[in-house]
Amino acid sequence: MPRRNKDRKEKKEDRGFDVNRLMGIEKSESWNDGDWIVRRVTGSAATKPYRCPGCDQEIRTATPHTVAYITGQLEDRRHWHTPCWNTNRKKFKRED
Ligand SMILES: [Zn+2]
Repeated sequence: MPRRNKDRKEKKEDRGFDVNRLMGIEKSESWNDGDWIVRRVTGSAATKPYRCPGCDQEIRTATPHTVAYITGQLEDRRHWHTPCWNTNRKKFKRED
């Protein structure tokens, strides 16, 4: 059965990656409204639905999306559709 092969392949690819692969890569970005931690969440790590603050629509389970928060304010993090986050950032200026 094809499914069996697929499972084995995924397991092999997972080896040596762990948290970063599951949770996505975290980056810090400086903007004129603050320093943000921006994390790209993979579909496999998106195990709960969230409300996107950009469009006020649900981010469905298993949808790759973006988590962002101001540095040091992890508890205020929000989950965004990646296009909504990108649109939101157009209102601000990147400071590098
Ligand atoms: Zn959205």
